[in-house]
Amino acid sequence: MIRLSNTLYKGSMCSNRIGRQAIGLSKTLRINYSTATTTINNNNNNNNKSKLLSEDFNINSRINNKNYCIASAVAAQPSTKPISRGRERQQIDLKIGDTLHGFKVVDIQDVKEKQLKTFRLKHIETGAEYLHIDTEDTNNVFSVTFKTTPQDSTGVAHILEHTTLCGSEKYPVRDPFFNMLKRSLNTYMNAWTAPDHTSYPFGSQDPKDFYNLMSVYLDATFFPLLSEQDFRQEGHRLEFDQMENPASQLKFKGIVFNEMKGALSDPNSYYAEQSQQHLYPSTTYSYNSGGEPLDIPNLSYQELKDFHSQHYHPSNAYFFTYGDLDIKNHLKFIQENCLNRFTRNESIVEKTKIGKVPRWSETKRIQLTCPPSSMDVNPERKHKFSISILHKDTKDVFESLVMHMLSQLLLRGSNTPMYQALLESGLALDYTPNTGYDDNLAESSFSVGGVGIRAEDLEKVEKTIIQTLEKAAENGFAQNVIESILHQYEFAQKNVSASFGLNLAGGLSSYWIHGGDPVSPLYLNKNVERLRKEIADGKPFFQNKIKELLANPHKLVITMQPDEHHQKKDADAELARLESIRAQLKDQDVQEIIAHSKELQARQNQEQDVSCLPKINICDIEKKQKKIHHRDTVLETTPLRVLDQPTNGISYFRATIDISTLPEDLKPYVPIFCSFIDEMGAGQFDHKQLDTEINLYTGKFSTSPLISGSPFDLAESKEQILLKSACLNHNTDKMFDLWTKILLENRWKNADLLKILLAQRQSSMVENIPSSGLSYAKTYSGSKFSRGGYLGEMWSGLAQVRLTNQMVSQNDMDGIIDKLARINQFVIDRSLMKCLVTTENTNITALESSLASFLKPFPILNNGSTINHFANTSDTNANKSFFAIPATVNYVSQNYQSVPYTHQDSSNLQVLSKVLSEYLHKEIREKGGAYGGGVSLDSGLISFYSYRDPNLLKTLNAFNESIQWSLNDKITDKNIESAQLSIFSDFDSPESPSNRGVAEWMRGITNEMKQERRDRLLNIKKKDLEQVSQKYLNNNNPSYTTVLGPANTDIQSDTTNWKSEAL
Ligand SMILES: [Zn+2]
Repeated sequence: MIRLSNTLYKGSMCSNRIGRQAIGLSKTLRINYSTATTTINNNNNNNNKSKLLSEDFNINSRINNKNYCIASAVAAQPSTKPISRGRERQQIDLKIGDTLHGFKVVDIQDVKEKQLKTFRLKHIETGAEYLHIDTEDTNNVFSVTFKTTPQDSTGVAHILEHTTLCGSEKYPVRDPFFNMLKRSLNTYMNAWTAPDHTSYPFGSQDPKDFYNLMSVYLDATFFPLLSEQDFRQEGHRLEFDQMENPASQLKFKGIVFNEMKGALSDPNSYYAEQSQQHLYPSTTYSYNSGGEPLDIPNLSYQELKDFHSQHYHPSNAYFFTYGDLDIKNHLKFIQENCLNRFTRNESIVEKTKIGKVPRWSETKRIQLTCPPSSMDVNPERKHKFSISILHKDTKDVFESLVMHMLSQLLLRGSNTPMYQALLESGLALDYTPNTGYDDNLAESSFSVGGVGIRAEDLEKVEKTIIQTLEKAAENGFAQNVIESILHQYEFAQKNVSASFGLNLAGGLSSYWIHGGDPVSPLYLNKNVERLRKEIADGKPFFQNKIKELLANPHKLVITMQPDEHHQKKDADAELARLESIRAQLKDQDVQEIIAHSKELQARQNQEQDVSCLPKINICDIEKKQKKIHHRDTVLETTPLRVLDQPTNGISYFRATIDISTLPEDLKPYVPIFCSFIDEMGAGQFDHKQLDTEINLYTGKFSTSPLISGSPFDLAESKEQILLKSACLNHNTDKMFDLWTKILLENRWKNADLLKILLAQRQSSMVENIPSSGLSYAKTYSGSKFSRGGYLGEMWSGLAQVRLTNQMVSQNDMDGIIDKLARINQFVIDRSLMKCLVTTENTNITALESSLASFLKPFPILNNGSTINHFANTSDTNANKSFFAIPATVNYVSQNYQSVPYTHQDSSNLQVLSKVLSEYLHKEIREKGGAYGGGVSLDSGLISFYSYRDPNLLKTLNAFNESIQWSLNDKITDKNIESAQLSIFSDFDSPESPSNRGVAEWMRGITNEMKQERRDRLLNIKKKDLEQVSQKYLNNNNPSYTTVLGPANTDIQSDTTNWKSEAL
């Protein structure tokens, strides 16, 4: 079921994108290109219900009360003496008109509904804008944003974003950004390029660390070195395939070049990008700010430098800070380290103004092609179609709220007119990625469209969309549906998020840079109240909005169909370009290419002294593990854990159901059971009414399959279903009542509906294969090692995609209904349940008593629990699998078995993974030009990976060389310290009250185990790492490698080592 969230229609392509959900507004797919790949996880599939929960393997905790030791190489520190934090922080005694450190206070607001105080300032000399949000939250955030308005698709803004992070005046080392990831306790570090701005945000809880990072970020953005070699490494360069052999193939290389090839081979991103470029002609939005691979080689080094001086200037800068640290210190630091070297530059302000799109007088139609989908399913349903309408400028927050709300009313979930007319009718299989209201750009747009359309239905789809809008303009919307969406806003507003400040940094900036008031979106309640007045007594407020949309002549109609030559055309154009360059190369040019390549390689190989960079010391890491207190009890016979947390009036409920003894023939159907359990209708509610009821009374309602590995033994993984939901405290009984209906009175017997849901599931899975390449590769490899891995593949791997395809093609709906009903019969067994509730102290008794009444009607069936052992039936000789997909880059995953959480070697392996990642970053990203590569330790696996990688064999070599390197006395104390810092910045990153203690409950990890792991991680020696490398990664240990990538004749003909498999 599609619910209110930032992944309303499709997830964002950057797994680490932060956004507007913080202020209760959701968004359509917006393409931002980001630098860091450090958060690539196993969950980059949009179809989140088919994925295992990331909570399962991510044990975090939070520390307070730090002891600070005297700094080593440190950036100028405003103050190192202990300061009062959080609720006890010093009050800020600034008033409007005050001047301080070159800034003037222009506005102060007390946002009571969010318990925040906002301060807007202007830098007097340069006009730089500044917004500070004062709050008790100790997860402080900084970001600096520049308006960047490219006038071509060479990716200049994006390449600049990468290159600024490659060394600066004060920090002239090759890669300060990636080095700081290992020298800091940051809670977030990234940079991204949006269509009209570039942002550099970070978060940290530690004051010293905060200023270290601020120093590096300010110096990187305002005073970067922008060396030509970095431009060639990050942007583009010519190189011979064999570096010194001019007879070998000439190639374009570069990190952004490959990143964009990967990004645009994802059909979702490609569609959204094309839709934007055509709807906003003759503005900066008609270009791809990330860069078109064919245009990127046109960018010159001089143009890169010019773009920097024309955009990265304080007169075009927006500073944002958030948290409990004192703004006065921030202002002083920014003034002294940066702004006092600049004066106002009016011409920059003029240059980055975004003009209005000249309005069309009639609808414009375009036809596009895209790469074929990864699996040849539904061959007759290949068309995509959408209508986009250019709306208004985006400064008005109330208009944004109204349009987002209207978009929900029309599109979200099964009780909306567009869903019924377009998807439930079977005309389309899913919405297009641009569907919804988008207010990220200077002018907003509203789009509706479908994918998986038959050629002969295209006209009908267009008519249906228009007629559905006309009908809604006539009839309006049911009051309870309106209320259900308003309730979701209220819920989102109360829900406490650990990354609230970061989300604001991302979410407020698009109002701000387009000239709106960045504080106004924080007043959600006020705007909702105003909306309630507008729609009171059935006034046709939304109807008039729809009429406005229909009357707007600036409409873009896109039809897209796959063309198997689509990628080949691009590849041919690239080759032709290279051929023509080669034909004109003189001897001298050839020598220059070789010399440049060697020079770059020598530089990449050079050991560098990074001691000029500030850092946190190991002694800054808290030794004591912060305990999370809980109370374990039993409700009748059901185990219950109670977590007392400051949840701001919300009750969170979770339950696991042990399904280890569920008959094996039903197990593959568990993810489908979980996906559809709240989509079929239950009790007196049909599926549409049920959707509205869930949104009226709950939030975060979901059911998912869950595998949790035992902390003691990898062979013992628990096979479970996880129920999860939350509600405002006064809705607790309503929430449990919905669960009772869904579990005990489900309306499975609806073959027509099931058929539609399955087709939608299939379409979304197949569309998302390119963006989930790495996750599928890893899951497939993991299936060779353990029962947990085997189930992972069955539930969230390619096997699950195949099963879905098979169900659609066999079309035996009654057979499937029978299986789902049997699973349902099994899981209502109370003896298999285990519950957890999180709420504030005053609400615990009430919540427990509601839970007890909820559990009563569930029967005790004693289905029993067991440990299912792993039987590997696969061919043990070939240990490398290759899946050809229509992509231009590879996703590579090479895996070894690891050890359970409490094993002595587990923490050593965790540090080793980080050390090896540092080695591989240089080989795979810097030299190889891949977007990312490294080693991760989770799910019982040690996984070597690369992501959007132009190479394959070279990368596999690099994996093996990294292991040899670790055995040859090469690991240094510095490597270990960097690894420890980076582990602890994850380990101690803040968690929201609703998530605290949950992962520990799922996996049975105690405070003592965590303390023991902490002690081990802090006391690791080089010999420990060498020993585990020898023990787990040497040649005698079984490994399994899986690759998803473009057809590769070398690999596919090497049948001794490789198994070519069909998706
Ligand atoms: Zn990038």
